[in-house]
Amino acid sequence: MTDQRYADIIIDISHENLDRTYQYAIPSELLEQATVGALVLVPFGKGNRQINGYIVDLSLEPKLSAELIKPIRSVVADAPVIDSHLIYLAYWIKETFGGTINDALKTVIPVRKAVKIKERKSVQLLIDGQQAERLYLEYKRKNNKAKLRLLEALMKDPILNYDTVLHQLNIPRATLQGMEEQGTIKMLSEQIYRNPLRTENREYQPVHLNEEQQYIVSDFIREYDQGSRGEYLLHGVTGSGKTEVYMEIIAHVISQGKQVIVLIPEIALTYQTVQRFYRRFGDRISIMNSKMSQGERYDQSERARNGELDIIIGPRSALFTPFQKLGLIIIDEEHENSYKSETTPKYHAVWVARKRAELTGSSVILGSATPSTETYLQAKQGKIKQYKLTKRAKEAKPPRVWVVDLREELKQKNKSIFSRKLKELMEDRLQHKEQIMLFLNRRGYAGFVSCRSCGFVMKCPHCDISLTSHNNGKMICHYCGYEEQQPGLCPSCGSRYIAAFGTGTQKVEELVKREFPYARVLRMDTDTTKNKGGHDAILAAFAGHEADILVGTQMIVKGHDFPKVTLVGIIAADLSLYTGDFRASERTFQLLCQAAGRAGRDALPGEVVIQTYHPEHYSITTAAEGDYESFFEQELLYRRLMQYPPVSHMLLLLITSKQEERAEAASIHLGEALRHYIQELMLNAQTIGPAPAAITKANDIYRRVIYIKHQDYAALVEIKNYLEGFFAYSEQFTGCSLQFDFDPMSSY
Ligand code: ADP
Ligand code: ZN
Ligand code: ZN
Repeated sequence: MTDQRYADIIIDISHENLDRTYQYAIPSELLEQATVGALVLVPFGKGNRQINGYIVDLSLEPKLSAELIKPIRSVVADAPVIDSHLIYLAYWIKETFGGTINDALKTVIPVRKAVKIKERKSVQLLIDGQQAERLYLEYKRKNNKAKLRLLEALMKDPILNYDTVLHQLNIPRATLQGMEEQGTIKMLSEQIYRNPLRTENREYQPVHLNEEQQYIVSDFIREYDQGSRGEYLLHGVTGSGKTEVYMEIIAHVISQGKQVIVLIPEIALTYQTVQRFYRRFGDRISIMNSKMSQGERYDQSERARNGELDIIIGPRSALFTPFQKLGLIIIDEEHENSYKSETTPKYHAVWVARKRAELTGSSVILGSATPSTETYLQAKQGKIKQYKLTKRAKEAKPPRVWVVDLREELKQKNKSIFSRKLKELMEDRLQHKEQIMLFLNRRGYAGFVSCRSCGFVMKCPHCDISLTSHNNGKMICHYCGYEEQQPGLCPSCGSRYIAAFGTGTQKVEELVKREFPYARVLRMDTDTTKNKGGHDAILAAFAGHEADILVGTQMIVKGHDFPKVTLVGIIAADLSLYTGDFRASERTFQLLCQAAGRAGRDALPGEVVIQTYHPEHYSITTAAEGDYESFFEQELLYRRLMQYPPVSHMLLLLITSKQEERAEAASIHLGEALRHYIQELMLNAQTIGPAPAAITKANDIYRRVIYIKHQDYAALVEIKNYLEGFFAYSEQFTGCSLQFDFDPMSSY
């Protein structure tokens, strides 16, 4: 018997401890049923107590000597399907994106900390009026004051709140128990799920869908009702009415007894958006987000599991909501980076949605004004059905866009951050009491401190990234929080010309106030939205026209509807263009389109000013024209030339260690093994590196990278599996760790 098979089993998925799996042998007669996700009965512990477990992985290798491994007793036929699905999904995530099965399970099955579920208890009178009267006299005779008080109250109102009984009527618990035992009263308890949706007015005003919208809804529903399940791209400019289409489709799907998951980037999950859904679907909808307490999230998960909800809205993690009758997954703004997990397993929500849909017989709708190149390529290849919304729903015209060359401004001796055009338009809007948004993509290098004599840049000693200047004279590292005072002289050449370079949102706010002292300005960035509700408060204030100008980062361009905004200024479009990763142009295009989409959302026409040092760059020219198609064509040429995703696939290996030499040696060793493996299997793969990562050090941990490109994703998975094993069993790697990222979306 050489091909004995083993199963890794997790004993109880309903507890927080997912850290351990136990290995069991699979008896040959159970081979067929014992698959990943199967519920099994196994002997456990010294007494071989029989308990339930789930199979999470299969292998040919015993982890102990084979005769010590107990066999699985049986496979339970009617396992709860939902748990099996999610466990299989975790297994698939581990296989497809790397990491351990425990990492994957923790992603899919959120920690079930034993949170105290809020209970509403009440006390009910069980006897009828006559009996009560009789008892009343008896209590009076015996001078049972407490019982008398309670009975009196219950005779007026047969159900009383438990807390009222305890604390206002002052009835001792023992008395209640006694009366319950005698059959006079009964304690009722009802679990209250914490509902995170603040209830407000629920007035839903139906919109009359336009022709384009109606066509899409009808076509989808027709296919859905025919039983066909597939993947769809809803490609429509901002404000074209995608959300209305989603809601109409959702209404149909839930009328068929199915449940729906709606993913929205956390940053766009605002009060405004949520209330729109709430007004339409009421109590059958709930939200999940990272600001909710563990208890709140647990409650929503339980409500979903028990079928008390039809729809859940949330960011990436809402994908794992334990719906029993899932029928549709919608991913809005599917191109967003936040759909890719930044921690292991580094999964992409679109991929996982596809898999979960396949396992549950659901459809997937991806929506975007600027689809990711990945998704759009698949749509072009016919793998995803494409629906288009070509115009804005409210008859608003597309905004007029001005591209301003900042080099030209400098030549004309304009050293301000506002070009002449932007300044002129801002003055105009302020006069007309309309609103303005100024957008700054701070990610990248804005705010760094450098010497204009020698070029020296102040960096974090732990992270090798530039420190960001704050206006209290401090410089802060946004990776690890390190801070120091800004020096007066350059530490490298001693010159006095060391200063903050570039522009942060704070700086823009300051300059706006200086140029337009009469304007009311609000700022929104990570500093001003730290507190719970800070985000919503700023948006609400701006929506209420408590300010004329809103200055902010990416946060201000996502999914808000401000009818009075008629001017959007993009301070420095280049900031996201040279960030050193292959998606920089795509991201710039998306941000510019989104920002432009904020102008003139209602009856008032809008204008957009894009300020840039590279007015001829295709991501800027195509964004200015709102021409997605031609952006895509040019971007694809570049990706093809460089063999970057989506034309090819790319796997990143991140090797880290506390010691620099170890990280370096390990990456070289791993690179050699990798090339050897590729040669031996004659894989047509291309490798880059090893090299220090762009962030060579973070939190005092050294980072090195290797990139592998291959046409075929499966080949990269094979390489990952090989390297995972090699890394685990080779001594050269002690003190190091290895992470994988497929088709990476962030820079390393
Ligand atoms: P998107 O999700 O594509 O940005 P929305 O669904 O948010 O677009 O629609 C933008 C605005 O237009 C919203 O205020 C919405 O209520 C309105 N709207 C959408 N469809 C219609 C329609 N058919 N008739 C009238 N107003 C509509
Ligand atoms: Zn210097
Ligand atoms: Zn740091």
